[in-house]
Amino acid sequence: MTKDNKKIMTTRTGKPVDNDLNSMTAGKKGPGLLQDTHLLDKLAHFDRERIPERVVHAKGAGAHGYFEVTNDLSRYTRAKFLSEVGKRTEVFVRFSTVGGERGSADAERDPRGFAVKFYTEEGNYDMVGNNTPIFFIRDAMKFPDFIHTQKRNPRTNLKDPNMFWDFLSLTPESIHQVTILFSDRGTPRDYRHMNGYSSHTYMWYDEDGEYVWVKYHFKTAQGIKNLTRQEAAELVGSDPDHATRDLFESIEKGNYPAWNVEVQIMTPEEAENYRFDPFDITKVWPHDDYPPVPLGRMVLDRNPTNYFAEVEQAAFSPANFVPGVGPSPDRLLQGRLFSYHDTHRHRLGANYELLPINAPRSMVDNYQRDGPMRPDDGGGSGPNYWPNSFHGPDPDPDYALPDVDIHGMAARHEYELGDIDFVQPAALFNKVMDEKAREHLIGNIVAHLGGAHEKLQLRQTALFYKVDPEYGGGVAEGLGLPPDEVKRLAEMTQEERVKATAL
Ligand code: NDP
Repeated sequence: MTKDNKKIMTTRTGKPVDNDLNSMTAGKKGPGLLQDTHLLDKLAHFDRERIPERVVHAKGAGAHGYFEVTNDLSRYTRAKFLSEVGKRTEVFVRFSTVGGERGSADAERDPRGFAVKFYTEEGNYDMVGNNTPIFFIRDAMKFPDFIHTQKRNPRTNLKDPNMFWDFLSLTPESIHQVTILFSDRGTPRDYRHMNGYSSHTYMWYDEDGEYVWVKYHFKTAQGIKNLTRQEAAELVGSDPDHATRDLFESIEKGNYPAWNVEVQIMTPEEAENYRFDPFDITKVWPHDDYPPVPLGRMVLDRNPTNYFAEVEQAAFSPANFVPGVGPSPDRLLQGRLFSYHDTHRHRLGANYELLPINAPRSMVDNYQRDGPMRPDDGGGSGPNYWPNSFHGPDPDPDYALPDVDIHGMAARHEYELGDIDFVQPAALFNKVMDEKAREHLIGNIVAHLGGAHEKLQLRQTALFYKVDPEYGGGVAEGLGLPPDEVKRLAEMTQEERVKATAL
C-alpha cells in the first residue's frame, strides 16, 4: 500500500498500521488491551516463525543457476532436458552439512549434501547427492540408527565419540566412507571447491524401453580444495558460516561457480556379472572399468532473494524423476524414495510442492485435492476423480518405466560382509592417496577416535588394519594401542572381534 509515493506498513490482512512502537494500554501506566489486535498478531506470528529443522542436512546454503548439455547422450535416455547439446535447464542447488543443527559450523568434519533441482519441461528432476561417491551403510533399515550416532547423546546432549565409533565399528561396510570422511575431503574448503556425486546408481531409459545404469559425477571447475584438521577447527570457532558466506559473496561478485557433469554408464548385462554389486552404495565403479563420460556443465549465477523462502523451504527428493530417469534396486535409495517426501510433508505440510521454490515450471494436472494451505486454485472446477467423463487428465502408458525382470524369495536377505568391502578403501589408501594424504588421514582419525573407549579404539583400528596394515598400524601408533593386539583382532571374524572387544 502506498500514500504520497511512500510505502505504508500494513497488517497481514492489509490494513494500514498506525503505530508499531507502542502497544495500546489502559492509561499511561495501565496494562495492555486485548483490542490491540496488531500487537496480538505480531506476537502470535513471531511465536510460529520456526518450522522443524531438517533431521539431517539442517545447515545449508543455496543458489540458482542453470545446467547446459555439452555432450549428446540422448541415445541412452529420453529425458528431454538432456536431448541436445546446448540445451539449458534452470536449476536450484542446496549444499549442506549432514549431522549438525541449523546453527552448526560449516567447517565440521561431515559429508556435504549436494542437492540439485532441475526445473525441466517434463517436471522437476532432483539429484540429491553428497560430496562423496559412496555412503556409510547400504540398507535404509540402518539409517535412523546411523544418524542417531552422529547426533547428540540422549543423556548428556553432547556429541559422543563412543556412539559414533561404536556404531561404525559394528558396521564394517562403513570403512570406505569413514576413510573418505577422515581424509581432508571430509573438511572441504567451502561448497565451491568440492565435487558432487549421485552416489546411488540410477536408471536411464529410452523411448523403446531399453535401459542402462548410471552414476553422476559433478566435478568442481574451481578445483578440489580442502581444510586441514587445524584449519577446520579454527574456522569452526572463528567463522561458523564461512562456506555459506563464500558461496553468497562469490556469486554476488559475479564469480560464478561451475561444475562439469559426467556420467558412468553400465549395461544391465554388465551389471549382472560385475565384480562389485553395482547397486551397493558403499562401492564406486572404478574409473578404469567405467570411465566417466562428459554430459554437461552446471553454473550457479544467482543468489536467493530470501533465504527462508528459497533455501529453507526448498524440498528435494530422489523420488522426483522425469521420463528417461528412474530408480535402481539400491536398498538405501529405495528407503530414500519414501523418506524425503515424507519428511517434507512433516516439515512444510502436505502441499509443499506448491511453494514457489518447489513448484515445477511445467504443468501439473492431477486429482489430488485440498489439504492445508493451498495457494493455487486447488484444481479449480475440474473433476476430482479418475476415470471421469469430464475431460480431466488421463495417465499415458507411454511414460511407463521399462519392464525389469526381478525374481527371488521375499525375505530379509543379508548383505554378507566380505573381503570385497575392504578392496576399495585399500585402493583409496594405496593408489589414490599420497604420503601426505595418508598422514593427514591417520592424524584426523587419531584426533577423533582418541575420544572413544579403548575397546572401541581397538575394534575400529582392527578394521583399518584389515584395509591395510600401514593404515591400521599408523592409527594404532597414534593412539598408543598394542600393535600385536590390533593385528590379532584384524585376523578375527567380525563376530569374534566384537566379542573380544565387548564393553
Ligand atoms: P581413480 O584413480 O581413477 O579415481 C580416484 C578418484 O578419487 C578421483 O576421482 C579423485 O577425485 C578421488 N579422490 C582423490 N582423493 C580422494 C579422497 N581423499 N577421498 C575421496 N576421493 C578422492 O581410481 P578408481 O576409480 O579406481 O577408484 C579408486 C578409489 O578412489 C575408490 O576405491 C574410491 O575410494 C575413490 N574414488 C573413486 C571414484 C570413482 O567414481 N571411481 C570417485 C571418488 C573417489 P578427483 O579426480 O576429483 O580429484
